[in-house]
Amino acid sequence: MTFAPPEGGREAAAARAGDLRAELARHACLYYAQDAPEISDAAYDALMRELQAVEDEYPDLVTSDSPTQRIGAAPSQAFAPVRHSSRMYSLDNALGFDELDAWLERIERELGPRQHAFVCELKIDGASIALTYEDGVFVRGATRGDGTTGEDVTANLRAVKAIPLRFRMDVPPARIEVRGEVYMPKSSFAALNETQDEAGLPTFANPRNAAAGAMRQKDPSVTAGRDLSTFIYQIADARAAGVSSQWEALAWLKRAGFRTNPDIVRAGTCEEVRAFCERALERRGDLPYEIDGVVVKVDSFATQDELGHTAKAPRWAIAYKFPPEEKTTVLRAIVAQVGRTGAITPVAEFDPVLVAGSTIARATLHNIDEVRRKDVRVGDTIVVRKAGDVIPEVVGPVPGLRPADAVEWEMPVTCPSCDGPVWRPEGEVVSRCTNIACPAQRWERLVHWTSRGAMDIEGLGYEIVGRMIETGMIRDIADFYSLDAEGLDALDTGRLKKDGSPVVLGPLMATKILANIEGSKSQPVYRLLYGLGIRHVGSTVAELLTARFRSLDAIGAAGAEELADTEGVGPRIAASVRTFFDNPDNIAVLKRLRAAGVRMADEARADVRAQTLAGMTFVLTGALSGYTRDEAGAALKALGAKVSGTVSKKTSFVVVGEEPGSKYDRAVELGVPVLDEAALERVIETGEAPGAADTADGSR
Ligand code: AMP
Ligand code: ZN
Repeated sequence: MTFAPPEGGREAAAARAGDLRAELARHACLYYAQDAPEISDAAYDALMRELQAVEDEYPDLVTSDSPTQRIGAAPSQAFAPVRHSSRMYSLDNALGFDELDAWLERIERELGPRQHAFVCELKIDGASIALTYEDGVFVRGATRGDGTTGEDVTANLRAVKAIPLRFRMDVPPARIEVRGEVYMPKSSFAALNETQDEAGLPTFANPRNAAAGAMRQKDPSVTAGRDLSTFIYQIADARAAGVSSQWEALAWLKRAGFRTNPDIVRAGTCEEVRAFCERALERRGDLPYEIDGVVVKVDSFATQDELGHTAKAPRWAIAYKFPPEEKTTVLRAIVAQVGRTGAITPVAEFDPVLVAGSTIARATLHNIDEVRRKDVRVGDTIVVRKAGDVIPEVVGPVPGLRPADAVEWEMPVTCPSCDGPVWRPEGEVVSRCTNIACPAQRWERLVHWTSRGAMDIEGLGYEIVGRMIETGMIRDIADFYSLDAEGLDALDTGRLKKDGSPVVLGPLMATKILANIEGSKSQPVYRLLYGLGIRHVGSTVAELLTARFRSLDAIGAAGAEELADTEGVGPRIAASVRTFFDNPDNIAVLKRLRAAGVRMADEARADVRAQTLAGMTFVLTGALSGYTRDEAGAALKALGAKVSGTVSKKTSFVVVGEEPGSKYDRAVELGVPVLDEAALERVIETGEAPGAADTADGSR
């Protein structure tokens, strides 16, 4: 069936398009957000085709919120950074009921005898998103990123049908940001992995990774095919919506047409909170999507404000995490794996089992002592789980099921990679291959250089780096910077096509990898230092050292004592750094890196303010007119101050805005000096610590 363009010209077409859009949006909401469709899929499609016909005839009538635009043109601003209107916090965890109880008790204690309630929600195991609407129209979607800045994934989120392109409200707020979770249902995840597998493509470890991956597709039509859905649970600036509690916010979101999770409870007592968590744990397997716990939030926003945030998470919420799921399987082998520092790690290989959403078949046993302590032997039936729901872990054997011939595992006496001698230093638990030319070590070392926390060179991983080493293309990290396009082009990836022929990297990937390598030259110096793989120098230590010395040369020139004198760096780390820089082979590699143009010194940072408030603690209470409380807190922290949520004798100043809470009374009671907003502003602007002229006398 084809649709004739409407009679009556442009005006009639515009009216018809408007009606069709409104009707389609209503049905999309009923179908995707409320799971309560009123019309058949075929009828929906027919309406959609009619709208498409009208828009084809009059392209200037197309609006950005038209359902025909869900998969629009390729995103022009793919993944550009987006600063969130306010920080997207993570949540503190309670592992087990004891920790949950402790948190509940602390809240009860802080709030005293006042009436308060908690809202309990399922903790959806997906990826956080922030959606911005202007006059009710979806204008931007972003990932959480580091909490302050995320990535613009608007084009892809448009393809997610559960996200309304325009939300339903007669007078929508001029601008509002809502937050929630995008996730992939369990069934879609299973189907996706099956298709990936058939196509010879990598599978996803769990639905969360699959959802996050789908959101970052270059082509929105791929995202559209991935069957994502959402649950929205937060309004960034809830006051713009005129709600004063989490419970009201959820109701508002539902009314506006967002998909909200129906399994919520407003609990008046700790017992009710616990009961909700227990029930969620029981029902976990029956839900069509993955959850990894329960989020408990203090309901009233006024009370939330009073409790405040830590640097990382709100004090008014807690994520009760489910205990790890345990499974049994059979241990088939313990293999000795050589790491980049030569450390030889026993790794358990067992029959694949599905644990907490993904299949696992290997887990590290760390060292020989751990193998003995756990007493696991090849052939044992073992219990496995995921630590923190992520990292596979062997809990121990099931003793009754041990085969009669199972023997204790022994550490090999020669390196499994190079046959070099294995040495276990006195007093250490780790055995090492001492051959510096050991290929296994080289491989790990080179992969480490490219890894996320180090130079972050996308496109290079174990497989590709392994092939590069095998073909003699690279021997050390400096070789990455003299690769050429042609050689890389023809690199055999080690994978096979369906017809058995090898898959080569190809010009497109080769160019991309070279561009990424080029880009890595300007990484901050701490990443380079971490990437060198110096023993005991993790990324935190690397940051501490570069913050103090600013350049690799300065670090290399510093004596062991000077190095050890750095905060967070002890003599053991200092000695290891010295050993590295005293080795002429290492110096030669650094020289070549420098020649290649790799950045080796950080410029003095202009954005760092003098730490004039170091050692002082500020508490904020009441509403400020010029700043949000988070902004004021961040500005104080940038000057070196601590910002706390509770007033004590140690508090240096309490900043008091409009309608201050009990913290103000407490400040007066304890005689803590009080600042008003004008004084705060002066401190933030000048960077000077508050003086006597700034503090009120307490009799406001
Ligand atoms: P975590 O990543 O373990 O710190 O947990 C925090 C994350 O839980 C948040 O960033 C959200 O993405 C996610 N989350 C899932 N469901 C909820 C919910 N109902 N309320 C708040 N956060 C949630
Ligand atoms: Zn070796």
